[in-house]
Amino acid sequence: MLGMSLREAAAVLRLGQVKPTELCQKCLSLIKETSFLNAYITITEDIALKQAAEADKRFAQGKPLGELDGIPIAIKDNFSTAGIETTCASRMLKGYVAPYNATVVQKLFDQGAVLMGKTNLDEFGMGSGSTDSIFGPVRNPWSYSRSYIEKRPISHHAAKDDSDWVIAGGSSGGSACAVSAGTCYLAIGSDTGGSTRNPASHCGVVGLKPTYGLVSRHGLIPLVNSMDIPGILTRCVDDAATVLGMLAGHDLYDSTTVQDPFQPFSLPETIDLSNLCIGIPKEYHAPGLSTEILSLWSKTADLLEKAGAKVMEVSLPHTPYSIVCYHVLCTAEVASNMARFDGLEYGHRSDIDDSTEAMYAATRREGFNDVVRGRILSGNYFLLKQNYEKYFVKAQKVRRLIADDFVKVFNSGVHVLLTPTTLGDAAPYLEFIQEDNRTRSAEEDVFTQCTNMAGLPAVTVPAGLSSRGLPLGLQFIGRAFCERQLLTVAKWCEKQMDFSPLQFNRDLGNGSIVLQYSKSASFV
Ligand code: GLN
Repeated sequence: MLGMSLREAAAVLRLGQVKPTELCQKCLSLIKETSFLNAYITITEDIALKQAAEADKRFAQGKPLGELDGIPIAIKDNFSTAGIETTCASRMLKGYVAPYNATVVQKLFDQGAVLMGKTNLDEFGMGSGSTDSIFGPVRNPWSYSRSYIEKRPISHHAAKDDSDWVIAGGSSGGSACAVSAGTCYLAIGSDTGGSTRNPASHCGVVGLKPTYGLVSRHGLIPLVNSMDIPGILTRCVDDAATVLGMLAGHDLYDSTTVQDPFQPFSLPETIDLSNLCIGIPKEYHAPGLSTEILSLWSKTADLLEKAGAKVMEVSLPHTPYSIVCYHVLCTAEVASNMARFDGLEYGHRSDIDDSTEAMYAATRREGFNDVVRGRILSGNYFLLKQNYEKYFVKAQKVRRLIADDFVKVFNSGVHVLLTPTTLGDAAPYLEFIQEDNRTRSAEEDVFTQCTNMAGLPAVTVPAGLSSRGLPLGLQFIGRAFCERQLLTVAKWCEKQMDFSPLQFNRDLGNGSIVLQYSKSASFV
């Protein structure tokens, strides 16, 4: 059952074949067995068992709340959870317990979800590998998959202590890992520049970044307020659509959420592509794109065309400037967001208290890692009076041009864009950490941050395996608030790909775990 999709698991619970507490216990033991993946910062065992017992009762009375009732989920550790520590993987917030639940967390609880734990991330979401966490890096479960191990003959046991494993992507690497390894059916991540889609693609799961304003950010500890959005990580596109229906909607606590009521939808079983126009942005043929992804991308475009869609090349001319502008805007907002962590109200406070100023400085020096401090410095530099026009204002103007590029393409009749999600498959950890956080982000976010700059919805779908036996994802970008159309196309592609990791299996043969995904897990 651990390899099923959320919907399938919900159906089994509804039939009464398995009780929520049984399912919860299974997931808890898998979490413990796979603890070397480091997906979870906090395992909320007691809460999970209590929530599952409540779900048991509802099922026994024949009154389950809905599809999420009794379903194990995980939440990225930058969402506030009442009574449960929220660390943002930072020394600054170690021990911090929020007094309230983030809106998305509350909505999931109201639907009967069972919280397995809070997942690991790059500190405050700044990164793209889930390697910059005070709790240590997240390991990609595919490092222990048959497809990878068979190609890289290493003993399973050695792989655990060894460094021969690949990154999970980030910054929601813990969430992607948790779903991919079968320890929960849904994980919530956040997406500011690609942090949901990047790890989803590296871990072979579906990652949805909704339109900005569709899902509340209340209780998501802000990184870049103008771009942040909760992300949805699931094993299939249908599940992402179901969960979106539960989370979307206006929230009095987030004035940037749209007021129009959201109509939850489910996706059609038979999908007709004949009236659809798919755009292939030529600027996404970026330097460094792996030949494997390039061929997957064009094969998929061909498939869509054969199935009746109109596929055409389009141009988003300002794309090459996006990553630099993202950096300016991201660090500027980071600098102001991080100002609240001064040792007075939240988390860590230094023992150095010679003066208030000395205490602030020492608290921030001790509490933040190099990456966060570096971004605060850059951001403050861009915001200096003499630099403001030159950097911040200019980046804002380019951001508008980037958004306008998308509007023009969509107004010309294109419904959905098809692009790669990342340049290549997941890098080995030791290779990844050779480069600094900023360089890595510039490479990893090249195809993802443009949609955050423009506020558009995007989803990554697992589309094939690399020659090293690791998952590769493709990204679909939709018109603002057209998630139904976006996910319909994504589902169509998912169906062609024979990638569904639902045949997940465990082999505890020699005391180690091998995660077995779909038999071929390859492009049809
Ligand atoms: N890699 C990006 C960054 O470090 C993405 C961050 C995110 O989406 N949370 O800024």
